[in-house]
Amino acid sequence: MKSSQVVSLQDVRPVRKRKKTISRTVKLRAQTILKILEKVIPIPVVELASSNPLELLIATILSAQCTDARVNKVTPALFARYHSAQEYADAEPAELEDLIRSTGFYKNKAKNIMASGKAITTRFHGTVPHTMDELTTLPGVGRKTANVMLGSVFGEPAVVVDTHVKRVSNRLQLTVSDDPTVIEYDLQQLLPKAQWTVGAQRLLLHGRYVCLARLPKCEECAIFLNCPWKGKSSVS
Ligand code: SF4
Repeated sequence: MKSSQVVSLQDVRPVRKRKKTISRTVKLRAQTILKILEKVIPIPVVELASSNPLELLIATILSAQCTDARVNKVTPALFARYHSAQEYADAEPAELEDLIRSTGFYKNKAKNIMASGKAITTRFHGTVPHTMDELTTLPGVGRKTANVMLGSVFGEPAVVVDTHVKRVSNRLQLTVSDDPTVIEYDLQQLLPKAQWTVGAQRLLLHGRYVCLARLPKCEECAIFLNCPWKGKSSVS
């Protein structure tokens, strides 16, 4: 993937409300799965380290095509160097790039972070905006990042769809789409609104630690019996 594709137009388009009949069976399965995952992952924390909305926004921009663990290695020095949207806007590009280099696509990410700093300073009085429409006007911020902010910082119901949620949702047949925006909508239909944020975060953590992309740990999976994926028995 080219650096310019870190956030695509597809990422920021609004969720299209399409008519769709979701079978009762799928809905019940989704709710059973989420109940089991709730026991296994009672507090589904966001693993990106941050202490305020601006820091989480910057960390989430850096997490594109990068692990949270890697991002958490670079952010202590980054957050010690820059403390406000204005300071990111005024950053010296080479210095900023150097600080975030190991997260990959660092030139594009530095450009987006500086431009977002400028946009937050000039258009939002230095405060990270609180709505999907406003957040997705920021450079480098797509629906995934906006949903992280809405769900984790601003207390809005929000379904974050990253690579783990995409994979797990497909294996569990909670969606048949590869499109993150469609998956977001499908999960919204399957889960009670109050469960959107924590439910999606539990699917994310299940994908990160158990339902791995190449070698899922089916033998230790709490939802093995509820998983309809044909590939599961061959690896269990
Ligand atoms: S049984 Fe295997 S494939 Fe199914 S959800 Fe669990 S880890 Fe993933």
